[in-house]
Amino acid sequence: MENLIDILEFDRAELAAELQAKLGVEPFRAKQILPWLYRKREQTFSNMTDVAAKVRDQLSATYRISRLPIVSHQRSKDGTRKFLFQLADGKKVESVLIRQPDRWTLCVSSQVGCAIGCKFCRTGEMGLMRSLKTSEILGQVLGVQDEIARLHQNPDDGIRPDFFTNMVFMGMGEPFHNFDNVTRALRLLTDDLGFGLSQRKITVSTSGLVPEIKKFGEQGPPANLAVSLNATTDEVRDRLIPINKRWPLDELLGALQRFPLKGRQRITLEYVMLKGVNDTDADLKRLPGLIEGIPSKINLIPYNNNSGLGFESSDTETIYRFQQVLLSQNINATIRWSKGNDIDAACGQLATEDSKKKRKELANLEKERIAEETAMQAL
Ligand code: SAH
Ligand code: SF4
Repeated sequence: MENLIDILEFDRAELAAELQAKLGVEPFRAKQILPWLYRKREQTFSNMTDVAAKVRDQLSATYRISRLPIVSHQRSKDGTRKFLFQLADGKKVESVLIRQPDRWTLCVSSQVGCAIGCKFCRTGEMGLMRSLKTSEILGQVLGVQDEIARLHQNPDDGIRPDFFTNMVFMGMGEPFHNFDNVTRALRLLTDDLGFGLSQRKITVSTSGLVPEIKKFGEQGPPANLAVSLNATTDEVRDRLIPINKRWPLDELLGALQRFPLKGRQRITLEYVMLKGVNDTDADLKRLPGLIEGIPSKINLIPYNNNSGLGFESSDTETIYRFQQVLLSQNINATIRWSKGNDIDAACGQLATEDSKKKRKELANLEKERIAEETAMQAL
């Protein structure tokens, strides 16, 4: 088992080349195998009945079809569900299935932790452990689908295995720090022989890595782009998102102006609403000018409180005012009311148990230190 190659690491073209090089198998076999892997979620080569028996044997001897075991599956009061997956090296990663009135959206992670270190984000606080492999990104999707299919055997549950239509790369990690694996996963997600999802319904969110934004555009991106704007001045953005020092606002916005879009496609600009930090009248006044010339929509995100990070969400009134003023200037502005807070599944709240444990340990050490200090002072 150990030395078998995970067949979920290859996109369609790579699989055809791989099968030919390694097994001398005709490239068209890749087209036969993909739907088994991603449509029927088959986990055994010998069950792939339209593939010649000899080829099935060769496949079984050389490859494996990986799965990520689910450590936990939590269900929020609002119907949103959070899945914790275990990776082969013991690290853990989270995915969230978000319930919206008219659809389900699956939010996946691209890394364990994140190196960007945004000051308001729980994942940023844990730092980067590692990037996910293609099979681990797809493994989250397959894992959720398998689990829902299993649950659906209970007809009361009400979700079908093909329930979700929309996907966002907004879980843990900076997707463009894992560019190759994320784009390979996107190719399989949108391949009509793979998962067959619509390119228009998948969104990749970046904190603003300018070279990768450009590269993504040049590749003819198989997904929508979202960018975490989160501030209207470099001064504030530098403080919130450290990579702004490397790629400041004018370079970022320039890259977005040049980003190729098809038809009515728009770039989503995310704006986390932080009280007293980026929600002033001056911010609201600057915002329209800043995004001029970028076909975009603004997504205002009420801040999901993470204790100890020192931020607070803007008042509901302020958030509505931002939306109203933007709308009055013909800027498409929506509010992303949070989902799954009660199970820590909302934006910027994802952090796996290991890091929660680490945080608790640090907090305990700090408590001990203070207790010791107080005791010393009392002497
Ligand atoms: N790493 C990528 C995608 C994941 S975060 C990125 O930063 O774009 C998805 C969105 O959640 C980002 O726009 C981010 O700014 C926002 N976010 C992070 N922490 C948050 C929090 N505590 N409350 C609300 N939104 C948050
Ligand atoms: Fe990373 Fe996104 Fe969190 Fe920033 S907001 S630390 S980029 S996951």
